[in-house]
Amino acid sequence: MATNGVSDSLFKMPTIKFTKLFINGQFVDSISGKTFETIDPRTGEVIAKISEGTKEDVDAAVAVARDAFDNGPWPRMPGLERAKIMAKWADLIEENGDELAALDTIDAGLLYQFSKFGIPTGAAGSLRFYAGAADKIHGEVLKCSGEFHAYTLMEPIGVVGHIIPWNVPLAAFFTKVAPSMAAGCTMVLKPAEQTPLSALFAAHLAKLAGVPDGVLNVVPGFGPTAGAAISSHMDIDMVSFTGSVETGREVMHAAASSNLKAVSLELGGKSPLIIFDDADLDKAADLAFFGMFMNKGEVCIAGSRVYVQERIYDELEKKLVEKAKAWIVGDPFDPKTHQGPQADKKQFDKILWYIEHGMKEGATLLTGGKSIGTKGYFIEPTIFTNVKEDMRIAQDEIFGPVMALMKFKTIEEAIKSANNTRYGLAAGIVTKNIDTANTMSRSIRAGTIWINCYFVIGGDIPFGGFKMSGFGGKDLGLDALYKYMQLKSVVTPIYNSPW
Ligand code: NAD
Repeated sequence: MATNGVSDSLFKMPTIKFTKLFINGQFVDSISGKTFETIDPRTGEVIAKISEGTKEDVDAAVAVARDAFDNGPWPRMPGLERAKIMAKWADLIEENGDELAALDTIDAGLLYQFSKFGIPTGAAGSLRFYAGAADKIHGEVLKCSGEFHAYTLMEPIGVVGHIIPWNVPLAAFFTKVAPSMAAGCTMVLKPAEQTPLSALFAAHLAKLAGVPDGVLNVVPGFGPTAGAAISSHMDIDMVSFTGSVETGREVMHAAASSNLKAVSLELGGKSPLIIFDDADLDKAADLAFFGMFMNKGEVCIAGSRVYVQERIYDELEKKLVEKAKAWIVGDPFDPKTHQGPQADKKQFDKILWYIEHGMKEGATLLTGGKSIGTKGYFIEPTIFTNVKEDMRIAQDEIFGPVMALMKFKTIEEAIKSANNTRYGLAAGIVTKNIDTANTMSRSIRAGTIWINCYFVIGGDIPFGGFKMSGFGGKDLGLDALYKYMQLKSVVTPIYNSPW
């Protein structure tokens, strides 16, 4: 495996222009004046000090978002006008794509090429997708009994609190913001404390595009303070959360014990990839490797449990080891690099703990297992074989470059194993047999099933979990637009009312 850490020649630190809270169209200091440091995972060094939002700042942001919703132009504007502003914002995102991508690379350790790919397809793509839907929101006329005329209206749900994680910062930002804006909502978004930079830059571009003040507010800060202030706020109508199961539980609890706001949870995963023995082995190995190690395994849908039918198990093992040896871990700005640093020290330590635990549990370390270099948070792509289903490395979401490889004999066994998890975010099936593919895709309890592909997500495909991977409406697809809306029924007598 080629490894290098960070090469100075490729070190590209973008200028950090936005470090304050974005409230009512202005960048402002936090009320307490406190700041926190955001760290470069390539080096462990401080990138910038960011204003730290707490409850008071969330209150201030919610007050302007409330006013913008109750009295401002955004929810009342024709959808086509909202669409024009969103499309302008998408153009600005693309024009500033290099800088935005670099911010995610230095903040979260994303490969620069990967961040750049996400600008037109993810960020600007989401804005354009939902902008195209903003003027097509309508209810329906109902055939109701009696002499009444009834119809439905689709109305924006109100002020939304978005809480997002750090693994794909800009993509997570637009996954939440684009559909809720198209719906006519106003919002307060808290980026993860590890990765506030691209969200603040995107907010600046929103203002340039003409998003009215108060519609989008960004309050960086920590979960137990700023995050909890959002989920327990009495004047927020909905909280849309992406993150871990543990935090999702707290968010739901806070929503229930405050104003019973609507809750949407997109949580963790431990997704299975099932490879049948009729598969093309090279393609299957490519899929398995990419499905696990893309973005250093810090992906909620990573195929971290790989089940291989017994006849091809040994052969596939060999191919995966070859791939691991050719995999370059290092500077995320270098186009030759396949894998950058883990997002932060906490995540780095957690992954190494799981690797050690996997060995203690009795799984066989096939390749990898170690950290790389003395600076930054780099970890080798790691594959365990002879994994048992009840081991923690087969059950817990590690959220790092650690694959658990397991064997199966029959399709029945594969179905049982795939479903042997508390999660249900995604699954992959590799086979040439259409009957096998159909049976598996109907039997696995997960929100997305990929047949002979992996990681295919996009604005037009609804995305979200089953079981403890979440609920409360999908992210992506038109479904995401509707989760930020509520349906109102209107009834009126056709003739003179008896009342
Ligand atoms: P996390 O739950 O620790 O944090 C997520 C966000 O919640 C952060 O902004 C954090 O500050 C905030 N938060 C923390 N405590 C809070 C509290 N008490 N109240 C309100 N907010 C609080 O998760 P993470 O470590 O940032 O992200 C990794 C997790 O996110 C993984 O489990 C991953 O699978 C999941 N994830 C899911 C999806 C999906 O679409 N299903 C996408 C990406 C990541």
